[in-house]
Amino acid sequence: MVHLRPVLNTLPAYTPGRPAPEAPGRTAYKISSNENPYPPLPSVLEVLRQGAATVNRYPDLAVTALSEAIAATLDVPPARIACGPGSVGVLGQLIAAVCDAGDEVVFAWRSFEAYPILTAVAGARAVHVPLTADHRHDLPAMAAAVTPRTRLVLVCTPNNPTGTTVTAGELDAFLDAVPADVLVVIDEAYVEFGTADDVPDALAVHRARPNVAVLRTFSKAYGLAGLRVGYAVAHEPVAEALRKTAIPFGVNSLAQSAAIASLEAADELEVRVKELVAERERVAAALADQGWELPRSEANFIWFPVGEETPALTDACRDAGLMVRPYGVDGVRATIAETAANDRLLEVTAAYRERHC
Ligand SMILES: *Cc1c(COP(=O)(O)O)cnc(C)c1O
Repeated sequence: MVHLRPVLNTLPAYTPGRPAPEAPGRTAYKISSNENPYPPLPSVLEVLRQGAATVNRYPDLAVTALSEAIAATLDVPPARIACGPGSVGVLGQLIAAVCDAGDEVVFAWRSFEAYPILTAVAGARAVHVPLTADHRHDLPAMAAAVTPRTRLVLVCTPNNPTGTTVTAGELDAFLDAVPADVLVVIDEAYVEFGTADDVPDALAVHRARPNVAVLRTFSKAYGLAGLRVGYAVAHEPVAEALRKTAIPFGVNSLAQSAAIASLEAADELEVRVKELVAERERVAAALADQGWELPRSEANFIWFPVGEETPALTDACRDAGLMVRPYGVDGVRATIAETAANDRLLEVTAAYRERHC
């Protein structure tokens, strides 16, 4: 028997949702991964078509053109941009950059499923801090969970899977309480979908504090999930470290050029994001009318904190051709997708309430 690291036994096995069954005359929708329902823009497809002809070459190792385009868009120095294969890839690099074996990574729970997995794989120790009763980060408790072994704190806002945000004031008080040698990463995978006005300006917070980095991705609002490209905005020493812990050539050439084309088409993409946000508001209002009491989502998904009823609601969705994401006995997350899928979800939730409430 080959020796495998015992820590692997502690990792949750990845359980993909069972696909919604096909039924004649009915489209099945996968609303379990927070994907953007829109296909790539024509301008992005064209860049991919052209790029396909040169995949015999390695991509630009330093991701120069894309990093410069991101830096110009965000008005930060290019040296502060570190790209990776999805922001999940960048997060793995971040943990590798700050954690030795046994060091601690603090994050809210529930939050993004990748956090405990990446932490354990790096040999670090995950410290889970429960969300508040209203499904939000408990930042005072997270500050209190920091010990001399803590190297990294992850703040996911909007939070996956609950859709809730931290406020600017909460984040400032939290950062005042965290030692300056602990890296705080603000994971903004869904920031483009936010409309609340009390949320932090994470880039401004980053500029003001050397221990704060921001994670962003092209997977959600930009609709490039299949290409795997995300980035960190981090102060130079951290960004430099990310280049050292990167897998060489991790961001492929198609991803680099499609991300640049997407930044150039930001106005077109913003129209789509606005439509998804309008759909989210329509769905949230309809759910409230149906009697659901749900946390307000600032992202492209809705969280149903139904506890023990998680399997029942998941099954009801599947029976109607909707593949949602169940989380144990905590709740169900459903992505805001095509209008037809959103309408189907509302039919399921209305019928579900009739039966169960
Ligand atoms: C989807 C998601 C990401 C981004 O993943 P990619 O690797 O960039 O596709 C990062 N953080 C959270 C919280 C997410 O939900």
